[in-house]
Amino acid sequence: MAVITDALCPFCGCVCDDITIVTEGNKITDVKHACKLGAAKIMGHHRIKEPMVRDDKKGDFKEVSYDEAIDAAAKILSGSKRPLLYGWASALCEVHKKGVLLAEELGGIIDNTASVCHGPSTLAVHEKGLPTATLGQVKNRADVVVFWGCNPVQAHPRHMGRYSVFARGFFSEKGRKGRKIAVVDVRKTDTANIADEYIQVQQGKDYLVISALRAILAGQADVVPATVGGVPKEQLVKLVDTLKAAKFGAIFFGMGLTQSQGRYKNIDNAISLTTELNSFTKFVITPMRGHYNVTGFGQVCAWETGFASAVDFSRGAPYYNPGETAANDLLYRKEADAALIIAGDAGAHFPANSVRHLAKIPVVQIDPYWNPTTEVANVVIPTAICGIEVEGTAYRMDGVSLRYRKMVEPTHPTDMEILERITERVREIRGE
Ligand code: SF4
Repeated sequence: MAVITDALCPFCGCVCDDITIVTEGNKITDVKHACKLGAAKIMGHHRIKEPMVRDDKKGDFKEVSYDEAIDAAAKILSGSKRPLLYGWASALCEVHKKGVLLAEELGGIIDNTASVCHGPSTLAVHEKGLPTATLGQVKNRADVVVFWGCNPVQAHPRHMGRYSVFARGFFSEKGRKGRKIAVVDVRKTDTANIADEYIQVQQGKDYLVISALRAILAGQADVVPATVGGVPKEQLVKLVDTLKAAKFGAIFFGMGLTQSQGRYKNIDNAISLTTELNSFTKFVITPMRGHYNVTGFGQVCAWETGFASAVDFSRGAPYYNPGETAANDLLYRKEADAALIIAGDAGAHFPANSVRHLAKIPVVQIDPYWNPTTEVANVVIPTAICGIEVEGTAYRMDGVSLRYRKMVEPTHPTDMEILERITERVREIRGE
């Protein structure tokens, strides 16, 4: 039996780094300190055992060798005029690098799962920058925390305990007792239930509410009507007083803000609010990134291509224009004629029209796990699990890079190996 301490959890953007893993032989037999979500991933579930292909979408899968699956994948991708390479959020940065190379080789489009979650945040950051902080700073200093359109109790279960609400830090030794917590959301979530102040905003009215807060903050409360986006003016004034009274305030925002009406303009406005709060006190804002390394893809893609996502190589040089070159744009317009889905689940998260198109085109899936994308895949290539069977780098939601160690030996080839071999085979097929 071996005990691995201070291991990193490869599930959500919190990247908890205090996990204890117990192994026997080459098997993980116990996980300590992880939440249910993290423990379920580390203990393993629904692994795909062997590579599989099927001739058409209606046919059953047939188990094949890795050589055959890689050959089939390379033929699909090299024969495509507009291949989409999508996913990446549950893979390490080393995998992202190989993915960008393959996309360039194919003249395809590479995009990640931020396309349907925090992509708008990236656009807003282009325009306004991001006055942010590490989660460690929040833990040690924050005395006012706002959760806007996110529900960490369900989606990031240890965020509040480790970093933002209950955590005791150097200047926040009282933990929860020393913090004021506000939640802004359209419904009373589990997170709202433990907040000091719950602000219920009408669906799609976040932009108006942020604008009203900015007006009050600027001393223009007289122009704010009696209710804004369903929120009484008195409650908005009270919230501004709380924010201004903070010694160190932190706003965390989620898809309730990025994917509701206004999208990137909501984030643009929230960043402006944060910047303006810094005229009164110290305030930071941080996106609640979902998958453990969705932030890492943005980093790798940006340093390799100049853009964080939705990069189109068909012109021979990287081109980026979300709304035109994001994964969902391509699928929705029925433009992609083949797709490689890796470490992400387009089948589960894209709008129905896009999934319908995905079901009509040849799809290569590279993933350790069976998921809804498997149902529309023609070629399925199982891989080792990044962060459990493969070491490498990931970026936490606050942009801090952390190194994952290998906990057990892999039983399947790594994503890096598979992508390298597909790239080589594509070159052979094209006679390069
Ligand atoms: S909060 Fe996230 S990173 Fe931490 S243990 Fe749970 S799933 Fe893993």
